[in-house]
Amino acid sequence: MPLTFINDELRALAARGHARRMRPIDGAQGRVVTVDGRPALNFSSNDYLGLAADARLRDAARNAMTDHGLGAGSSRLVAGSLGPHRRLEVALAAFHDREAALLFNSGYHANLGVLSALSGPEDVVFSDELNHASLIDGCKLARTRVVVYPHGDTATLARLLAEAPVARRKFVVTDTLFSMDGDFAQLPALRALADAHGAALVVDEAHATGVVGPGGRGLAAAHGIVPDVHIATLGKAFGVFGAYVTGSTALITFLLNRARSFVFTTALPVPVVAAATCAVTLVQSRAGDELRARLTRSCDEFAAGLVRLGLARGPAHPAPGPIFPVHVGDDHRVMEVSERLLGEGIFVQGIRPPTVAPGTARLRFSLSAAHEPDDVQLALRALAQLVSERALPQVPR
Ligand SMILES: *Cc1c(COP(=O)(O)O)cnc(C)c1O
Repeated sequence: MPLTFINDELRALAARGHARRMRPIDGAQGRVVTVDGRPALNFSSNDYLGLAADARLRDAARNAMTDHGLGAGSSRLVAGSLGPHRRLEVALAAFHDREAALLFNSGYHANLGVLSALSGPEDVVFSDELNHASLIDGCKLARTRVVVYPHGDTATLARLLAEAPVARRKFVVTDTLFSMDGDFAQLPALRALADAHGAALVVDEAHATGVVGPGGRGLAAAHGIVPDVHIATLGKAFGVFGAYVTGSTALITFLLNRARSFVFTTALPVPVVAAATCAVTLVQSRAGDELRARLTRSCDEFAAGLVRLGLARGPAHPAPGPIFPVHVGDDHRVMEVSERLLGEGIFVQGIRPPTVAPGTARLRFSLSAAHEPDDVQLALRALAQLVSERALPQVPR
């Protein structure tokens, strides 16, 4: 019985409160979803602008399918580079005002490909301790040396860079909007430190793109900073799937030669690419500005409400992003609270280790431009009830 260890490990996971299961959603992604047969307000998706089920994106996908079919047929470098792929890359390079862009099949693929192409055992990657798993796995695949710095601690990073071992190449790698804490990287300080130490700055704007900065161009654009390598996903605010890297023509040419997660995989399906192209146009338009303004209003209200309830220290951020952790701590407890909220018509996932550090299990509320002002108030009222029952710990004032 060579696989009996699986049952043992699954039992151990369940005992620790770490067993995971999927929550089936009926119908489309959106403001209200049906979870396990129960309709609930959706505070769990990364569809920050409410584009995942947008009629314009659906039309773009349908039209592309009529013209170009479904599958790309092969990898980009063999026979799978169709007109829509090229057009999307041109649109993305223009959106970010960079020389070139390269599509990847997901942010996970992009991060594995970028880090393993650019770095190796002779190099050092300085990595924020809360960086996304795909950046961590990219470093593992690269077999590069990794120096982890405490979250957002640029003073310690400065010391670590100064003490760095001799290396062929150095990289400072960071998420820009941290996915489980909802806070932002200190990009101006990181850019300055990278420059001072001859390191390349690699930023992953997965959660910030479409949401933050002028036209939704992200946190780097908001600060007027040009990263050496810029990565973003099409699966979050753009509402579709896939990811991309932007930078110099040399960088993109290098990646299309050397990023194995680009070279050795079938290109994205054409309808996905066409829908994403539609989303890129929408996001930077006046309509995109209006969606971001709606989202910002909801985020400001929710942030203020959490502070009032003693569930966040205020102001959480000068201008909060769309991700709000509500600390619970215990891994079993967080899932009970999540289930309880679902009963009240609020779908918010509990986040447990290994996604977050042990003892820091939390509810992760993500807001969307699809939410109505009443939705935010309903969520706050449900949280107020839990606070009054002492079912949620308040933060020390
Ligand atoms: C979601 C996420 C990814 C992965 O992107 P996908 O396109 O979903 O694979 C990568 N990096 C960060 C920071 C993310 O939040």
